[in-house]
Amino acid sequence: MQKSTHQHSKVVIVGTGMVGMSYAYALTTKGTAREIGLIDRNQARAEGEAMDLNHGLPFVKPVDIQAGGYELCRDAQIVVIAAGASQKQGETRLDLTKRNVRIVEEIVPKIMAFNPDPIILMVSNPVDILTYVALKISGLRPERVISSGTVLDTMRFRYLISRHYNIDSRNVHGYVIGEHGDSEVLVWSRVNIAGISLMDWCRACSKSIHPHKQQIEDNVRDAAYHIIEKKDATYYAIALAMNRITEAIFLNQQSVLTVGTLMQGEYGIKDVCLSLPCTVGSGGVSHVFSNPLADNEEKALRDSARILRENLASVGY
Ligand code: NAD
Repeated sequence: MQKSTHQHSKVVIVGTGMVGMSYAYALTTKGTAREIGLIDRNQARAEGEAMDLNHGLPFVKPVDIQAGGYELCRDAQIVVIAAGASQKQGETRLDLTKRNVRIVEEIVPKIMAFNPDPIILMVSNPVDILTYVALKISGLRPERVISSGTVLDTMRFRYLISRHYNIDSRNVHGYVIGEHGDSEVLVWSRVNIAGISLMDWCRACSKSIHPHKQQIEDNVRDAAYHIIEKKDATYYAIALAMNRITEAIFLNQQSVLTVGTLMQGEYGIKDVCLSLPCTVGSGGVSHVFSNPLADNEEKALRDSARILRENLASVGY
């Protein structure tokens, strides 16, 4: 394994809105990074956020928090892109495409001008499209341009299964793959609880999940829509998911996470970014797993890739 880079752990966050700052708050309270840089088109906002976070420093592990320009990226291992318009009520993630592609096209060259080899971690939506755009514009190796992908959707899936059985969600294993969005795929065929297949678990506790599967699917896939309807934006859970990815990178954990990454032939899919279980460590993505899926899941994954490729083509990529 490569050495951990935790001693010099610096994250720069471009976009200090609800997602960017919830993530910065998670990094601060969990002691994940030693340095945090904040950049926003609205400079005063980034400055105010840095002041607010800095005033909490007596309560957390030492961390240096600064607001500024793109020069902050110079010595950062990770640059997170959380800038952009967020999803509005009734708007799909793909509706955001054009607006946010332009923003990524503007931001990435500014990052690269100060740092030729960062890990770019995309969270802005539509995250799979924007990750591909950042990859193409930056010229970085694919393992270094990743996204939060379906890490959050995977956690929602595990959480809902855990509620059904009244069990610790950390004992539930299962993955959501494909697009972070409407065409994502819940991999029911691989779900297990503490190493016990879902079918055996249902039998052992005499509680079938079958009649509830569709409802769980809907609640995972439409979670963001439901939250946005109630409170306009989602940010806490995604911030924790981003913190988890950051921890895996800084501590070189080689954790299996469904981050978004470039497909290079997995399940016959190429030239599109989407999520599969990947090991994540100090170099970014170190391995992409393409284990057997049920036939309907594999077909749904290919459909998801096709939808993303069509959307990329519609914005000129
Ligand atoms: P927000 O509106 O609160 O914040 C966006 C910030 O980006 C603002 O501070 C704005 O000034 C800044 N910004 C806009 N254009 C910029 C530019 N060119 N350069 C620098 N800064 C710029 O939005 P939010 O709620 O924080 O959401 C941010 C993004 O994260 C959205 O695209 C949203 O859809 C996405 N998101 C993704 C997930 C996920 O699971 N991937 C979850 C939640 C939200």
